[in-house]
Amino acid sequence: MSKEYSNIDIVIIGTGPAGIFTALELLRNGSKQKILMVDKGREIENRSCPKSKVGHCINCRPCCNITTGFSGAGAFSDGKLSLSYEVGGDLPMLLGETLVQETIDYADKIYLEFGADKHVEGVGNTEQVKDIRRRAIQAGLKLVDCPIRHLGTEKAQEIYYAIEQHLLASGVELLFGWECDDLILEGDTCKGVHLTKISESVDVYANQIIIATGRRGADWLERKCAEHNIAHEQGTVDIGVRVEVRNEIMEKVNNVLYESKLIGYPLPFKNKVRTFCQNPGGFVSQENYDNDLAVVNGHSYKDLKSDNTNLAILCSHNFTEPFNQPIAYAQKIGELTNMLGAGHILVQRFGDILDGKRTWQKELMQSNLKPTLPDAVAGDITAAMPYRAMINIINFIQAVDHVVPGFASIETLLYSPELKFYSNRIKMNTDLNTNINGLHCLGDSSGWTRGLMMASVMGVLMGRKLNRK
Ligand SMILES: Cc1cc2nc3c(=O)[nH]c(=O)nc-3n(C[C@H](O)[C@H](O)[C@H](O)COP(=O)(O)OP(=O)(O)OC[C@H]3O[C@@H](n4cnc5c(N)ncnc54)[C@H](O)[C@@H]3O)c2cc1C
Repeated sequence: MSKEYSNIDIVIIGTGPAGIFTALELLRNGSKQKILMVDKGREIENRSCPKSKVGHCINCRPCCNITTGFSGAGAFSDGKLSLSYEVGGDLPMLLGETLVQETIDYADKIYLEFGADKHVEGVGNTEQVKDIRRRAIQAGLKLVDCPIRHLGTEKAQEIYYAIEQHLLASGVELLFGWECDDLILEGDTCKGVHLTKISESVDVYANQIIIATGRRGADWLERKCAEHNIAHEQGTVDIGVRVEVRNEIMEKVNNVLYESKLIGYPLPFKNKVRTFCQNPGGFVSQENYDNDLAVVNGHSYKDLKSDNTNLAILCSHNFTEPFNQPIAYAQKIGELTNMLGAGHILVQRFGDILDGKRTWQKELMQSNLKPTLPDAVAGDITAAMPYRAMINIINFIQAVDHVVPGFASIETLLYSPELKFYSNRIKMNTDLNTNINGLHCLGDSSGWTRGLMMASVMGVLMGRKLNRK
């Protein structure tokens, strides 16, 4: 293997949108550099979640098919491309709003070329948007405008399959089932990566090393930063719940905006709390991280619809001295919640939280609302959720109830843990250079992006930069 991969110019670790768009943009600019992309997961055509057949998560080994493999966490996401620079991460703070918006428009065209739906949600309906905004203002919430291109889970897989085939046909090497466990540094220059696969291992050397390992690889990258003195800082950690209500409750917002981006700073803590990843007619899902950590998420299909809408409510926490391990903090909350649910996602009715009691399985059956994550276990999420986060969530839900009447109903379901691991932020300049020569960090694992489109944008800009070298 070392012989076969001895003449590589660029190694990309992670075949999520950030890695993919780096390679695509290099090709689009006529680059002749030899590119190797490595992922610990599988080709997109070989990724499948057994849950759809067996009805529950079987904790796939060595990797969860939901979060690893070609197209990264994007394969099984419903592919909502946020088309505004205001959504999806902090890249505009680094590169400026204009460049980021221009690159969003450019990357969107590439998605269209590979077959994305031409329809854009959340535009027009001006009078109805005004009414929703009026209610949001009255409730002390900000409504962010964001056009959305909805690929749909099954369509997203087709689009990424077409991209995978295009990369292969253009000479990009794709290596699956190999995990990068270390970086090879000489002084302050990165020379290569160390890869492992079961009992095999190999060193691959290249001129440019791109790390785009997503949230899945964020804690690994945080450890590498400490080990190799890669300049980084602690960012925000997002802790929250996945909320599920009947479609009737969200009907107006779903029809007018598709996704409501609401932000609030509820009393008494005034922390930022926001809605995220709304799935009209969608399904609550589970993703598994290393050490068997089960985390809740949600997605929606283009054609197959449920009776429910789900969305995340996330509270942003910033820690101060002496604490500097936000990812570990979020993981501990996840582990505690998993422990209470005997390894499953916990679900509780909002009314029970206010009444200070757990939810019983039989009580779930008494509601209009049937959970779309059938193996979630009824219980008490407040026994694991930090006080501050819980109060933020309760007060935010009650504020959203003014915009969406019925949102704070007794039967509204809260699933936990919903955690986002992007709090380790790699320090870089506007040319996407880290303090280590030849090493670049992109996408969600870099701490600068939080979504498909922003990760794709960072990839495009990296590809352009590498092409200039
Ligand atoms: C269920 C679900 C629904 C979502 N829905 C949406 C949505 O609708 N809209 C949206 O904008 N975002 C959504 N997201 C988030 C979105 O998928 C991510 O923000 C995006 O994929 C980040 O891209 P990335 O390239 O940075 O990383 P990822 O897509 O996470 O890709 C990283 C890749 O790196 C690989 N990897 C990790 N560590 C290693 C290692 N050490 N060695 C080798 N390979 C490694 C992984 O296997 C993975 O394939 C969703 C996520 C999930 C899980």
